[in-house]
Amino acid sequence: MTAILVVGAGFAGAVHARELAERGWRVEVIDRRPHIAGNAFDMVDSTGVRRHVYGPHLFHTSNDRVVDWLRRFTDFLPYEHRVGAYVAELGRCVPLPVNRTTINAVFGETLADAAAVQDFLARIALPIAAPANAAEYLHARIGTRLTDLFFRPYTRKMWGLELEQMAAAVVARIPLRFDTDDRYFPTETHQGLPKGGYTELIGRILDHPNIRVSLATAFDQAMPKGFAFCFNSMPIDEYFGFALGPLPYRSLRFHHRAEPRGYRLGTTAQVNFTDDGIYTRQSDWSLLPGHVLAAGPLKTVTLEEPCADHENGMERYYPVKTSDGAPEKLYARYRTLAQAEPKIQFIGRCGTYRYLDMDQVINQSLQSVRAWLAERGQAASARNTHADDR
Ligand code: UDP
Repeated sequence: MTAILVVGAGFAGAVHARELAERGWRVEVIDRRPHIAGNAFDMVDSTGVRRHVYGPHLFHTSNDRVVDWLRRFTDFLPYEHRVGAYVAELGRCVPLPVNRTTINAVFGETLADAAAVQDFLARIALPIAAPANAAEYLHARIGTRLTDLFFRPYTRKMWGLELEQMAAAVVARIPLRFDTDDRYFPTETHQGLPKGGYTELIGRILDHPNIRVSLATAFDQAMPKGFAFCFNSMPIDEYFGFALGPLPYRSLRFHHRAEPRGYRLGTTAQVNFTDDGIYTRQSDWSLLPGHVLAAGPLKTVTLEEPCADHENGMERYYPVKTSDGAPEKLYARYRTLAQAEPKIQFIGRCGTYRYLDMDQVINQSLQSVRAWLAERGQAASARNTHADDR
């Protein structure tokens, strides 16, 4: 039996490995970290609370095929994510995404329904027909005051750039509500958290007799030679020795605080900070379902301090999307180099340099591995066709 090398044991690598293993391929998965699950890795810490080690991962999707595929490996605990944005001048949190409640609180209004909110926003929005960056995108929808309160300092902290320098797509991730719906993902048909956590979920995906996982094992250029093919989720620029220069990434430093179990800041598991300090947001893991595993006096609360990847041991979390598209243009040049490699395909957030959510990584991976199998006459088995996009 011929073997395939999969670099990275996060969602992208695990989905590829599983699909290949189920078609009879022997799969060797390596990861340079000492654990599986990539940036979705979670663990129960000494306070008895499960925390997401690389920042909050809230699963949400409208893709039924992704959900059906994952349900083979886990049940989901129902959870609808909500975020409070802490506003110092109000001395409390207000809902984010901006909704009717937020607007009434910030402007001291009593707008009674969605139509009144739309009228109000039409009056404060700027007439910008074709927004060229994140600032213009927001100004065209919510005007300057809401932009400067909820988006300008946060984006400066998060990306080290001004809204004018950022692509609109980054802030377009946050919807705008005219009603009082305060869910962070109001349009998604499926939201929830894997019952036993992400590490357990990815462990189950990788648990197959044809899959072998080697941790604390860095990729080496000589490795693919011994394999029929390599699916590689490592940063594509690193693979090519940064020959064209480094692709920019943002990273996060995590600051953990042990708080009494009764501690609360607002009512939501996640609180975003609108001030111009160093922190973007705080996660109170104990407020996520299934995240308190043992009784105890304390719980961990985690604050995030964004920084560049080179300021944090080259820990890459977010590809940077600027309004001039420069990082994507550099990535396109790396992709051209990659197309000349006949036995390697780059996958996942770092391999394809895209700001992908978990469901998008899983969908991208299912499509990529099934296309690869189909080229070799190995169509998805009947059991799995429901997750096939072709
Ligand atoms: N954003 C913001 N203020 C907020 C939340 C988000 O300015 O309170 C902007 C910011 O630029 C951020 C982007 O919207 O990077 C996307 O936010 P999201 O919550 O989707 O980021 P993620 O959860 O992926 O870190």
